[in-house]
Amino acid sequence: MKGIDGSFDVVGARGALAFFKTVEPGKLAHGYIFTGPNGVGKKTFARRLAQSLLCETPKATLLGYCGHCIGCKLLVAGTHPDFVAAEGTIKIGKDGASSGGDEMTARELVRELSLHGYRSAYRVVLLGDVEFATHEAANALLKFLEEPPAGVIVVLTTSAIGKLLPTVRSRLVEISFGPLTAAEVESVLVVQGVLPEKARLAAEVSLGSVTRARAVLDDDESGIREAAFEWFGEALSGRTPDHAFLRLDDRGRSAGEKRAAVRELIEVVRIAARDWAALALAGEDVVLLAADKRASIERLPKRAPAGQLEVLAALGEAERLANTNVSAGLVVDFLRMALAPQRPPG
Ligand SMILES: [Zn+2]
Repeated sequence: MKGIDGSFDVVGARGALAFFKTVEPGKLAHGYIFTGPNGVGKKTFARRLAQSLLCETPKATLLGYCGHCIGCKLLVAGTHPDFVAAEGTIKIGKDGASSGGDEMTARELVRELSLHGYRSAYRVVLLGDVEFATHEAANALLKFLEEPPAGVIVVLTTSAIGKLLPTVRSRLVEISFGPLTAAEVESVLVVQGVLPEKARLAAEVSLGSVTRARAVLDDDESGIREAAFEWFGEALSGRTPDHAFLRLDDRGRSAGEKRAAVRELIEVVRIAARDWAALALAGEDVVLLAADKRASIERLPKRAPAGQLEVLAALGEAERLANTNVSAGLVVDFLRMALAPQRPPG
């Protein structure tokens, strides 16, 4: 890539590339937050940024790595001592210990943040799609940001910036990532080994998200998009649709995973509802977000504009609930009841 010394292999991320090109090495902040939809390359960018900082070949630019030094090899192998990646929920454990899975306790976070680089002048901590289960957990990060040890850099990623405490958010440098173009999604899928023809079709319905494109490709997960559209239609009709596809009864899944499944349902239903309202408002010429679903959206029960607004408002409320400790099942029930045709009392 022009202007970068070494490789920096990302797709899209135009805002982030432009931003970091203006940052001089040594002038990095201690905390960044990458915001934007799922599947647009936030975590990939964070890993490439970490590799750039931990690459041991001298370079003139901040972004870029050589790909063959020991630092690069350790990072790619996932064993670099100065790079820590965690995803999921950070909470205060009952005994300070992790409950396993992808959850991290506040004590573990504090330890990761207090260590200096071992091989390198930097230490990079990536907290991907992290949620702070308690105020105390968020405070652990705040304490770090108030007095950060030299060379330690935290990168958070989130698709729901509103969930972050304002006190945490205000201390982070925020960089937004937009949806990818269909061609970019297609190119990522092809690199991942998807057949070109399949990649093109999945990219077209991906809404700019590699995650969603993969969900379309993956039978197991494509269930969610298909099933969520079906669920929306049933709920609008006042029936009680099956939500087994969300796997909320699966004991092997954490509460965080279940909430993520419900957020995915809400995201797909939001797209379906926007298309449903747009079709009613603007008629047949309207360009739909889910163009491949036009026929089934046209078959959905009609509502007066006020009723459509209620549906959109209910989605906002369901999203808010999905970001609290309300159980995933209750959020689904709330949304289903809010979408059902409202009959006058009595
Ligand atoms: Zn290197």
